[in-house]
Amino acid sequence: NKKASRAPDDEQFEVAIIGGGICGLILAIGLLRRNVKITMYEQSRSFREIGAGVAFTANAIQCMRLIHPGIVDALKSVATSNGDPNDPNDYLQYTDGFNQKEGEESKILFKLYAGYRGFEGCHRAHLLDELVKLVPDNVVQFRKRLDRYTDHGDGGKLKLHFEDGSSAEADAVIGCDGIKSKVRQVLLGEENPASYPTYSHKCAFRALVPMDRAAAALGDEVAKNQRMHYGPSAHILHFPVAHQSLMNVVAFLDDPTERSYSSKLSEPGSKQEVVQAFANWGPTVRTITNLLDDEMDKWFIFDTNDHPAPTYASGRVCIAGDAAHASSPHHGAGAGVGVEDALALSRLLELVTDSVNNNTQISKQEALKAAFAAFDEVRRERTQWFVSSSRMICDVYELKHAETGTEMQKMYEEIKWRSHAIWYFDIDGMLHQVEDQYKGRLNG
Ligand code: FAD
Repeated sequence: NKKASRAPDDEQFEVAIIGGGICGLILAIGLLRRNVKITMYEQSRSFREIGAGVAFTANAIQCMRLIHPGIVDALKSVATSNGDPNDPNDYLQYTDGFNQKEGEESKILFKLYAGYRGFEGCHRAHLLDELVKLVPDNVVQFRKRLDRYTDHGDGGKLKLHFEDGSSAEADAVIGCDGIKSKVRQVLLGEENPASYPTYSHKCAFRALVPMDRAAAALGDEVAKNQRMHYGPSAHILHFPVAHQSLMNVVAFLDDPTERSYSSKLSEPGSKQEVVQAFANWGPTVRTITNLLDDEMDKWFIFDTNDHPAPTYASGRVCIAGDAAHASSPHHGAGAGVGVEDALALSRLLELVTDSVNNNTQISKQEALKAAFAAFDEVRRERTQWFVSSSRMICDVYELKHAETGTEMQKMYEEIKWRSHAIWYFDIDGMLHQVEDQYKGRLNG
């Protein structure tokens, strides 16, 4: 459907972003900075995040900088690096939390250098408050829960249908609607198992403990630094957030129950359950579990590992972030990898704008399709590796990985290469690849 000539307003294209979580918001900021016309549709009444921590590693921070430097400023204004505020070098530190020998169990057995301010922990809601400042109100529509979209295949606008009976139109749709993505279901088909996440049989208890209490019980060195306490069939992780005023704690346990994607992702959990599960662990871990509130949230960890999406794009629709590749959280980088998606899409839609502005032979429909196909081609392999690596790394932490078992040196090597593959991602290489793929498709 190449055009010989085109009316000037034909160049304009409008992108609908479904979902205003971390990935949708960061993508919106990137597209607005590149003068792409967007409307974001969010099902909630306002932007909201849960009361829990989130950390970003070097790959994500570098992508944020390239998307819009204001995102890094927003993150830095609320984020906390590890330990000594005068030493911004970050390390991820691992201890044998199950070891009960006095003085040994809290010893750091190995640590990974994460870079200069290379592990930024923050409170999710605080970050959201800062990101929202970069998105003008008039591009967001709240209380719009997508039910489905339709493409009549005639090159005209795509139609979005919302649960309240209303509808809207757009030239392209990007689903950033999270782990239970509606866009993924329509794109892949309701019968396709890859349309739905499955249960990883791990659950997570999440808490934010006031730092003064945590430091009094554990000492500054433990409480104000990231620590991963590994052990058999469970592990517990913590890192400081909110300018070291809170210690973010996540405790992971096995859960043999069967759960469907349509059930709730979280329910109220009890401190007692966590205390009991770690009752035979070393004193540091037991002290941490005793710091938890009596009532806390218990999260069921679903992911797309069992049925990865065969494609992230179809025509002028694509999926990104958790909607494309929901991961278990064991690398602590699911949102970060979604930020990589946002950079790839920002660059691609900038290329679409250039194409339609500078070449009257190229239609916006054709350019948008090429952009999303390029996105799928470049992003799918890394992100699906990430999802499976996250499951695998959990087995390493919990001493049930076939090759590493309980051998510390092997565990270290395994954790190191996998973490480095995430943190030291070749971002320039990704940007070149998306451009080559896009241009190859348009010219092919
Ligand atoms: P979401 O945050 O789920 O946002 C989706 C948005 O879409 C929501 O606002 C939702 O309301 C909206 N929506 C959904 N359906 C519709 C619809 N039909 N119509 C309109 N709107 C809709 N990642 C890290 O990088 N670092 C960490 O330290 C980290 N820790 C984690 C710890 C735990 C315990 C867990 C479970 C995850 C962790 N992650 C971490 C992963 C991270 O939370 C996710 O990858 C990230 O939040 C996904 O962002 P998203 O924008 O893709 O999806």
